[in-house]
Amino acid sequence: MEAGAHARVQGGTPLSTLLIRSGTLVCMNAAGTVARGDLLVRDGVIAALGPAVPAALAGATPDDELDATGGIVIPGLVHGHLHLCQTLFRGLAEQSDLLRWLRERIWPMEAAHSASSVAASARLGLAELIAGGVTCINDMGTVRHTEVIGAVLEASGIRAVFGKALMDQGEGVPAALLDSPRAAIDEALELAKRFHGAAAGRLSVSLAPRFILSCSDGLWRDVGQVAASRGLLVHTHVAESPGESREVRVAVATTAARYFAARAVLGRGFVGAHGVWLDPQELGLLKDADAALVHCPGSNLKLGSGLAHVRAWRRAGIRCGLGSDGAACNNRLDTFHEMSLAALVSRARGVGSAAGAAMGSGANGADAPLTPREVVALATCDGARALGMGDVTGSLEAGKQADIAVVDATGPHHAPDAIRDPYATLVHAARASDVRLTMVAGRVLYRDGAWTTLDPRAAQADGRAELAGLLRRATLVEVA
Ligand SMILES: [Zn+2]
Repeated sequence: MEAGAHARVQGGTPLSTLLIRSGTLVCMNAAGTVARGDLLVRDGVIAALGPAVPAALAGATPDDELDATGGIVIPGLVHGHLHLCQTLFRGLAEQSDLLRWLRERIWPMEAAHSASSVAASARLGLAELIAGGVTCINDMGTVRHTEVIGAVLEASGIRAVFGKALMDQGEGVPAALLDSPRAAIDEALELAKRFHGAAAGRLSVSLAPRFILSCSDGLWRDVGQVAASRGLLVHTHVAESPGESREVRVAVATTAARYFAARAVLGRGFVGAHGVWLDPQELGLLKDADAALVHCPGSNLKLGSGLAHVRAWRRAGIRCGLGSDGAACNNRLDTFHEMSLAALVSRARGVGSAAGAAMGSGANGADAPLTPREVVALATCDGARALGMGDVTGSLEAGKQADIAVVDATGPHHAPDAIRDPYATLVHAARASDVRLTMVAGRVLYRDGAWTTLDPRAAQADGRAELAGLLRRATLVEVA
């Protein structure tokens, strides 16, 4: 997609100009620019930023202004792994590990979804994400009704990759979630026909085989072929938990990345979530294929899956992003919280190798913790590259899509000097509730407590009502 080409008009209405004044611009460009200044949005793209803005305005008055004094202006956050269909399940699947969590709670509840409960779940999740500065998501959908998620995404104004979850086998998978491989791929392609490139290029469709244990060998081979021929991303879970990795070894006699490599699933469009238990040779396979990984530290901690070694991913040269996973395993859809966890987890891993500090693998060595700037990159420019959208979003640069968040840094939890190290402020002090503005392609989706495309009160009321119906339909089980 060419930056700037497709956002000139939205909903038939020409976009206005907006001047964001006097903020600290954290650009996440290659030069690492951090500068006090202004940013001008015009026709859906970033027209100018920094000291050049007054000249770019050429005496004209912008249609709207936002005074960002004391705030930090950042690229809109890119959320790399999500299940919007699980927002309704928040708090309903606690104290579990991955496979029990899936078999006892998540799959039975997903099987009980109706079109209207999926829509309510997606709206609720998007209300939280958009108010938290997220401008781009990568969603796994669900097996049924994923077209409803597409429609909700389109109406919300967010930028998104999404796909129907593909499942054709697996222990504990309810019959209602099983397709034939042919039907699964056909339905995914129907979604692509309707939504790939839709909403002025804001939406794209992926193939989303859930994970190795839920998909047959034939389905994986089909996914590899179809993704390559259609140019679609492959979004899946990879090497998430110890128990899952053990079952994968039993089922396919190898490890996840080796399995994918042998079936031509790994490639430039591969986006694997979690990756906690990948070994060094598997990281090499991912790098050779130019595949991407998404770090989900909150989900990994809550499900007891482990501590992903993101430093090793980066050292291997793998593109990587950040995500919260769904609300049923986190329970926040808060990218600031996730940034904090990513930084802290990388430090905790460092403790494990602290004894090796003297051997050069400690704080300044090969296992050095992620820096705050590296963590912000996971949630912005690097996250965008992981989804193949680095030329569209993820940094503040003239000509790029105006996907922007403005973070207030004037509260007491930011005092006394949030701007001295804005990366540390964003990672360790900022909260989703500090976000003042969220804009996608020049369209304001959230500003100072008000949503423009979603009604959060209605979303909450609908969510409660739909959950009650869903739980009446669901058959929850206990796995021995
Ligand atoms: Zn997931």
